[in-house]
Parts: sequence; C-alpha cells; structure tokens
Amino acid sequence: MSDVIYVLDSAVFIKNATSWFNDKLCVTSYLVYEELLSPQARMEFERMQLQNMNLYVPSNKFRKEVEAKVKGLKLSKTDVELLAIGYELFKKGKKVVIVTDDYWIQNAARMLGIGYKGVERGEIFKTLRWKKICESCKHEQQEGEKCYKCGSKIVWVPVL
Ligand SMILES: [Zn+2]
Repeated sequence: MSDVIYVLDSAVFIKNATSWFNDKLCVTSYLVYEELLSPQARMEFERMQLQNMNLYVPSNKFRKEVEAKVKGLKLSKTDVELLAIGYELFKKGKKVVIVTDDYWIQNAARMLGIGYKGVERGEIFKTLRWKKICESCKHEQQEGEKCYKCGSKIVWVPVL
C-alpha cells in the first residue's frame, strides 16, 4: 500500500470507480453515504468500508479552520466535511489526495494546499482566478462582507 490517503467524494461511488481504490488507503465521511441514492452506489460504499476505507470525523478545530478559509465558496456541508478531513490529515503530516469531480472542492483543496484528483472529468491544472462580487447586484468589490451598493452578501466566484 502506498502512503497516500485518498479522501473519497460521492462521485467515486456514483460513477462506479471504486475498483481503482481497492489497494489504496481511503477515508470518507458518513455524510457521503447519506448522499448516495442508488442501491448500487451504497453497496460499493459498504463493500469498501469492510475492506480499505475508514469513516473519518474531523476535529472541530480543523472543521472551523476550513470553514473560515473557504467562506463564500459554493460548498455543501459534506464538501466542507471532506475538506476538513483532508486538511486535518495533511496538517498531521500525511500525503492526502481528495478525489472529486466537483471543481469547487478541487479549488478549495488547492487553496488549502491539499492534493486532489478527478474521477472522470480529470483534474483542473491551474487555480481558477477568483473575484468578489455582490450576490444580488453583481457589483464587484474587493473589501467588506456586504455590498456597498445594495447591502447584499459578497461572495467569491471564479473568473471563467
Ligand atoms: Zn449589491
């Protein structure tokens, strides 16, 4: 077994890509299991859990740290959980690769200094450029959490 720890997103189970990970050290979150709707995907999850995949719960310290760093990015609770798992293991000196097809998670991983890998879309090769805009009127601004023009929330968006 290699010493890399793979943090698996739901895409691995949904896209039936588990065989590639059979001889690798894997972790994931129970929240991922809850997102799997197909019986086939759930079976794959359960099978891997009996073999080489552990459920991991990040400590609050790392979860909070990640939440603060990725604030404004379009990430679900499960996404943040996976990032917190990766971040904690990374901070504890492990080699970590987050496996996901979600470009938002890939970008967040890159921002946090964690490795990532795509399942079928392939990984992104450079960080997208980001800008801050108002969620409501799209006014672009660098400072502050609220829009100077309309008072709505300021969020990060990729420059495509
Ligand atoms: Zn605005």
